[in-house]
Amino acid sequence: MELHLYDSWERRVRRFESITAGRVGLYCCGPTVYDYAHIGNLRTYIFEDLLRRTLSFNHYQVQHVVNITDVGHLVSDADDGEDKMEKGSRRSGKSAWEIAAFYSAAFMADFRALNLLEPATWCRATEYLPEQITFIQKLEEKGYTYRTQDGIYFDTSRQSDYGWLARLDRTALQAGARVALGEKRSITDFALWKFSPADSRRQMEWNSPWGRGFPGWHIECSAMSAAHLGTWFDIHCGGEDHIAVHHSNEIAQTEACHGTRLANFWMHGYFLQTGSEKMSKSGGDFLRLQTLIDQGIDPLAYRYLCLMAHYRSQLEFSWDGLQAAATGLQRLREAYHRWPDGEQIDHTWLTRFRDEINNDLNLPRALAIVWELVRSETGTAICKATLREMDQVLGLDLDGWIPASYEIPEVVEALARQRQAAREMRQWQEADRLRLEIKAHGFMVEDNASGSTLKPCEN
Ligand code: AMP
Ligand code: ZN
Repeated sequence: MELHLYDSWERRVRRFESITAGRVGLYCCGPTVYDYAHIGNLRTYIFEDLLRRTLSFNHYQVQHVVNITDVGHLVSDADDGEDKMEKGSRRSGKSAWEIAAFYSAAFMADFRALNLLEPATWCRATEYLPEQITFIQKLEEKGYTYRTQDGIYFDTSRQSDYGWLARLDRTALQAGARVALGEKRSITDFALWKFSPADSRRQMEWNSPWGRGFPGWHIECSAMSAAHLGTWFDIHCGGEDHIAVHHSNEIAQTEACHGTRLANFWMHGYFLQTGSEKMSKSGGDFLRLQTLIDQGIDPLAYRYLCLMAHYRSQLEFSWDGLQAAATGLQRLREAYHRWPDGEQIDHTWLTRFRDEINNDLNLPRALAIVWELVRSETGTAICKATLREMDQVLGLDLDGWIPASYEIPEVVEALARQRQAAREMRQWQEADRLRLEIKAHGFMVEDNASGSTLKPCEN
């Protein structure tokens, strides 16, 4: 069984083979914890979870590492402006450390609500200062750094293929950036270490061979991924916005220091959009998972919505779309729980499903197969066992759902029995009349392979 994945480095779908047989090292850029995650950020983590589950489904043992950026991510990706954490601190009156702890916990809660599998390792940038400093020292020894008044910078002109991941046109970028350069030698150069301001103290700052300050945003991922997965591992992920700057810079640092481009496969989740624009923390339409929950939406309905679009296409958010996903999920759960338990799996269906997910995580097609299976009625106990297997990848926690319990009045039960008898005698008009009578009592009847079920009308 072959697994094919899209590699942003080569810009094509290619066969995945792990560096070490049977094991996969997977590093995913995590949240900057100065604010809540929005559902756009969460779409990227859902994509990464689907990737991880697909790898496990293919019998790989996955070592999944996610970082928490709790220092060094500046308001502007061009290495100026305030640190997002210190800005968050000023805004809220809490310390930068308190903010990091608070939003990390909020993020973990979202993570669990979406049934995302816990990574083997969460690593916080502030806990890896020695590794980051040593990394920068090595770059310095190899002549890749220079000093300005505000920090130590990486000299991208030393690498002829800098920015290849993004197919950057460096000449055009440089020509357009003359004014904004400041002390930087090239527009693509980036900070490895920033000095604390001379006239004030930062909350998060450390001593270093270059002076008191804090690490740049990109160095944390090169240093922490190396610490946990080595300097050449299988897959590195993030959102599509990371291609041009953050991941290009991670690659530049690691290539300069260790001679590898860090990961064999680079994979990127595409944006969740609102009004044709990227959902962003600074933008107006910022939706948290909790906002959906407050509207009565099950968080797994959002997960289901994400399954309906390929991870390499942008997804336009709409409440109608979300509602349709919630209905789809509800129907799937009901079907699943209606069926008797069984152990036997239908491998023909499972192979079809695997072919789709192994084709660069084609979850929309895999979901279509799920529905074909549901509608096929090929022996309901087998369907259930097969669907349970598929849910290892979908992550909809079908087993964990508990059907709402409600009391069905005796009068409604009696009408349902009469209707069933009418159907058996092929008295369709009478059966329809009884359906309406049942509806007048606030219940609806759903016919299925094993008879019919009653449930309260939705409104
Ligand atoms: P941040 O917390 O800003 O560092 O972002 C966390 C992750 O979310 C990164 O992998 C981003 O690339 C990703 N991301 C940011 N905005 C969106 C969006 N609108 N849709 C999908 N992913 C996003
Ligand atoms: Zn990163």
